[in-house]
Amino acid sequence: MKATAAVLNKPNGPFELETIDVAEPKTGEVRVAVKAVGICHTDLVIASGAMGLQFPAVLGHEGAGIVDAVGQGITDLKIGDKVLLSFNSCGQCKPCNHQEPAYCENFLGLNMACARADGSTRLSKDGSPVFDNFFGQSSFATFAIANVRNTLKVDDDADLATLAPLGCGIQTGAGGVLRSLKAQKGESLVVLGAGAVGLSAVMGAKIAECATIIAVEPQEARREIATELGATHTLDGQGDMAAAVREILPSGADMVIDSSGYLPVVEQSVNMIANRGRIGLIAVPGALDAVLPVPIVQWVTIGGTVRGIVEGDSVPHEFLPELIAHHKAGRLPVEKFSRYYKLKDINQAIEDAHTGKCIKAVLLID
Ligand SMILES: [Zn+2]
Ligand SMILES: [Zn+2]
Repeated sequence: MKATAAVLNKPNGPFELETIDVAEPKTGEVRVAVKAVGICHTDLVIASGAMGLQFPAVLGHEGAGIVDAVGQGITDLKIGDKVLLSFNSCGQCKPCNHQEPAYCENFLGLNMACARADGSTRLSKDGSPVFDNFFGQSSFATFAIANVRNTLKVDDDADLATLAPLGCGIQTGAGGVLRSLKAQKGESLVVLGAGAVGLSAVMGAKIAECATIIAVEPQEARREIATELGATHTLDGQGDMAAAVREILPSGADMVIDSSGYLPVVEQSVNMIANRGRIGLIAVPGALDAVLPVPIVQWVTIGGTVRGIVEGDSVPHEFLPELIAHHKAGRLPVEKFSRYYKLKDINQAIEDAHTGKCIKAVLLID
């Protein structure tokens, strides 16, 4: 069938609206009429070509829509179901068997390879392949082929435009705090960067009833939203941030989450944490070979932890329903920092995200 997609024909685009062909779903696959899709920072990192993306390609990995066709072997999804799409995983490797699909041994192949293992694609144009299946979906399009493992049925009255970003950015930030760092009531957290992921970490910390939540963010408007969402303190990221954190928390913070990838501040995180403190690294810095130097003696002395985090350690079929319940209860008001655009305005949405005009861009499809 035909679909309209925002196709990327060269590194950094622009995205161009084109008519493409979408294959019938195969075993374990489901075709979704996309109704909304968030733009995540990872789309833009991959769009740069830095990680070897082939062109033309369709990105997009925070899709939400309505099931349009199902492949063989699918029993718990049917045509007409409203669904959220998330990251894909194999379900067979050790991390998948240990309920840690974000660390699936086949993660790169299933989410970034943008083709099946045999090189074939589900999308094409004039008989030539269009690289697809980004995060098991490629949802910057009117139709996407997803997989049963990254497709979650939601209630018929679910607001897809609001919930779409839960599939990546929101679960990454909230899960980073709630699942990866296992925030406890009364603990303290420093969040570096108050974009969609950082703000979701702030909301996660509030859900966990953290006592002190410090958001470090250069843009004033984002600091204000962080405060509205639960940050008890904000800092602008200028100067000695470790000293500024210790003015608020003399013993240091129990947790630091980095959603900024901004090394001059990330490097200070090792001096921000309290004894037994833990640092969670979420953002991918611009320099792919960047390192975080850990002072060994200090680290041994305080029993510090630093760990990487993918997708907030989410198991999408468990965690997304929890997040939807938090949203329903008013504890995850993602719409406060989302801005909505039409699919055809995707380039404008990306520009607005770059200039800080919008925090979370969500594309709507009629
Ligand atoms: Zn796996
Ligand atoms: Zn993402």
